[in-house]
Amino acid sequence: TINNDDVIKWLQTYDQVITENKDYLTDLDSIIGDADHGANMHRGFQAVVTKLPGVQDKDIGSIFKTVGMTLLSTVGGAGGPLYSTLFIQAGNRLNGKMELTLSDWAEALEAANNGIIRLGKAAVGDKTMVDALTPAVQTLLDASKDGTSFEEALHLSADAAKKGMESTIPLVARKGRASYLGERSAGHQDPGATSSYLLLKTAADVWT
Ligand code: ADP
Ligand code: MG
Ligand code: MG
Repeated sequence: TINNDDVIKWLQTYDQVITENKDYLTDLDSIIGDADHGANMHRGFQAVVTKLPGVQDKDIGSIFKTVGMTLLSTVGGAGGPLYSTLFIQAGNRLNGKMELTLSDWAEALEAANNGIIRLGKAAVGDKTMVDALTPAVQTLLDASKDGTSFEEALHLSADAAKKGMESTIPLVARKGRASYLGERSAGHQDPGATSSYLLLKTAADVWT
């Protein structure tokens, strides 16, 4: 199982991963958006890491909700509220928990993705972060039912998110700023799907 220290480590490592990929994410967003996704995520997670020492002994749900509230107050645009929703919805599902099982993680990310879909109204194939998260959630739900180990499931979910991220390349965007480009959005990878893949990849790296 995963405990609150593991969750803190994941968030701190994701902040480092975002720092390393800040220019890459901004470059992706400069092609089909407004060139701020790397800076937005970096600003948000720099703020998140300053809040972590204050919540490290709390339950995992509280840690997630603190992340969500911090992102909401530091990151604007579309990505801020969407990532905030991811963490708040997952946090609600993880209320009071000091440890996570595979099925907890699967259900938390399912709630997170559903919250993003409710807020942003994107479906799979609209060229958004939903394209990376949905197959990862499905992989985790399947793994939690068929006896796959938590470690194996984390790797499978990161692989599924990577494929989902890559699937955004040929798509024409139907949501967010990239949709303003119409057909010209095709041929470019979605920045939010990329940062979402990195979130799941970091969990697989840090928790196994
Ligand atoms: P903004 O577009 O406001 O500048 P960001 O650049 O931080 O915000 O984030 C852009 C990312 O947000 C996109 O790459 C996409 O993955 C995601 N996104 C935008 N609109 C939606 C939506 N309606 N539903 C889901 N994801 C969305
Ligand atoms: Mg942007
Ligand atoms: Mg913007």
